[in-house]
Amino acid sequence: MTNTPLSEQPKIVLFGLRNAGKSSLVNNIFGREVSIVSNHAGTTTDPVTRSFELGKLGSVAIIDTAGFDDVGELGNLRVKKTIDRLEIADIVILVSRGDTSLTREELEIIEKYQNKNLIIAFTFADGEIHTDNTKKIGQTPKVFINNITGEGIDLLKNTIIELFDHVKREITPVEGLTNENDLVILVTPIDLAAPKGRLILPQVETIRDLLDKDCSVLIVKERELRYIYDKLGVKPKLVITDSQVFNKVAADIPEDQMLTSFSILFARKKGDLAYFVEGAKYLKNIKPEGKILVLESCNHHKQADDIGTVKIPRLFKQLAEPSVTFEFAKEIPSSEKLKEYQLVINCAGCMVTKNDMTRRLDILKNNQIHATNYGLFLAWAFGVLPRALEPFPYEYNLWINN
Ligand code: SF4
Repeated sequence: MTNTPLSEQPKIVLFGLRNAGKSSLVNNIFGREVSIVSNHAGTTTDPVTRSFELGKLGSVAIIDTAGFDDVGELGNLRVKKTIDRLEIADIVILVSRGDTSLTREELEIIEKYQNKNLIIAFTFADGEIHTDNTKKIGQTPKVFINNITGEGIDLLKNTIIELFDHVKREITPVEGLTNENDLVILVTPIDLAAPKGRLILPQVETIRDLLDKDCSVLIVKERELRYIYDKLGVKPKLVITDSQVFNKVAADIPEDQMLTSFSILFARKKGDLAYFVEGAKYLKNIKPEGKILVLESCNHHKQADDIGTVKIPRLFKQLAEPSVTFEFAKEIPSSEKLKEYQLVINCAGCMVTKNDMTRRLDILKNNQIHATNYGLFLAWAFGVLPRALEPFPYEYNLWINN
């Protein structure tokens, strides 16, 4: 099994009515018992996520969900969790009994999710298949599964692999920015905020990506950068720094040295860099008494001088408008609440998928909310814009045509 982070793994969500055979199907995909199977409807309560190696796709996340027809107060909450998973799915598999015709609810689901990469898996294929299910259902591919013998599972896996050719691919951290044999310097402060004994995910992913691209990687703390830079016999293609030391790094390397940050790389990889650049332009327009929302994506451990809750508000108040109120959230608020904010500042989103971030940004864009991200905010605060955008000509031009 590879160690692809869960956030990078394509998400395949299985859903359907209770007792449609979802958990048996999951067990057959894995070739062993990973989900509890029972004749009692509603055995799977909350979504269960497991990684699986799927041919040329590598590691994928298979998500088994509660029945779509779950009832009662708890059942409604489970259905909501299932819908949340469907929203972030790369591929959705509707699991339905093959021996009965599709219910009204299932047909509504097909209608609603047909623009997703949808597959129908008809289970109970050991019995007689209902004639309705043998007919074409729009363009949606269907597979008949015998959960007793495992027949149909290989076809289902191949159908998933084929559908993935249509899925929006998440780029790698330095995609298009380097060539073979380039030298790239990574500046990674090891301060109190750094996790003990390891690097953080954006740093690890960037190192691996550079090695995959046959580049050389030199990793230094900000204090040693100037010393080692002056000794280099070759000019690095790029310096990638933690955004929190942008000012020191920019001052310690020549002005013509291409520079950006991990957070800006991830704004491009996970989100929409151009949209974030347009949002950063709005930083100078925040009105007195206005509100800014800092939007993170996970429950990471907070240190005393936390970037989102402490450093960014402090810098903004010092540099721009002391009367502004900062609020903090991990989930995107309702449209009604969003209207209260003049700006949203997103984290790098290293723990979520591009689909998660795209869904979040679509909501912000539909509500006409200006948004930027941590890296761009800090580049602005430390006076490193537009320099930090030089590796990205389109977004660089967006900024200078301010
Ligand atoms: S809050 Fe955002 S940037 Fe920080 S670890 Fe979580 S996903 Fe990554």
